[in-house]
Amino acid sequence: MNILSFDIEEWYIEKKFCGGRVEKYRKFDSYLNKILDILDENNQKATFFCVGRIAADFHYVIRKISERGHEIGCHSNEHLWLTQMTPKQLQEDTKEAIDALQDVSGQSVVSYRAPAFSIGEKNKWAIEILAECGIERDSSIYPAVRDFGGFPAFPANNPVLIEYNNVQLKEFPIALTHMLGKDFAFSGGGYFRLFPLQFIKYKMSHNNYFIAYFHIGDLIHNQDGMMTRIEYETYFRENGSVKNRMMRYVKSSIGTKGAFEKMQKLLNSASFVSLEDADNQLTFENKILL
Ligand SMILES: [Zn+2]
Repeated sequence: MNILSFDIEEWYIEKKFCGGRVEKYRKFDSYLNKILDILDENNQKATFFCVGRIAADFHYVIRKISERGHEIGCHSNEHLWLTQMTPKQLQEDTKEAIDALQDVSGQSVVSYRAPAFSIGEKNKWAIEILAECGIERDSSIYPAVRDFGGFPAFPANNPVLIEYNNVQLKEFPIALTHMLGKDFAFSGGGYFRLFPLQFIKYKMSHNNYFIAYFHIGDLIHNQDGMMTRIEYETYFRENGSVKNRMMRYVKSSIGTKGAFEKMQKLLNSASFVSLEDADNQLTFENKILL
């Protein structure tokens, strides 16, 4: 089973950190249109995890995705890491995002992905809050070490029912591959850009479960240069030293040239479904207690 997901936040991030440059919005719009056209051509449906504030400020983006028949999921309200939130803040953030996304899309929003896969061992209470907010499917667990997130002790590498404090969610963790003694994601972000397409396709065909995840920003060649110290510290909430900013710039821009075409080839080469469709096909016989 191949699942396709996109995390949609660029319009909001642009407005918050750079004031809202019209040429940037146009670029994001054109990439989104291209993605929707490719999905139509291949008769594929995806889950688009959207930041709630996009529904408030850029409702045409949410409406367009929904009208083309894709699932609208929640990617938080303001794209803040869950590791830095209290339970009350997470509850308010999630409720606000779900209400806004439901209002604009007309869909019932029951799928969730945390920014930066920021649900781990220390904040697994988030599962309970998300379920209380009406979330049924989650794809926030990255079962390895990762910047700003990661849950290396998570014991499954395929969709599974998880239970925390008597509350259950269907979890769709990021699929990993083991190489050189380490676990790597290969189906999205920097690793998707770094690994050759043939390798990704090989891994995909040898796994029962594959979940591709893309941000539009991952697919656009970065010509903006490094963030300023203030931008970096506001966004990442850590020291904006030159070294940290340089590392982040290299990670976010490596392999962006040709990344969109690579994604297009991947989508043309196999069939993909949304989380909603995957859920309808699965039985979730195994349960994990967290
Ligand atoms: Zn994101």
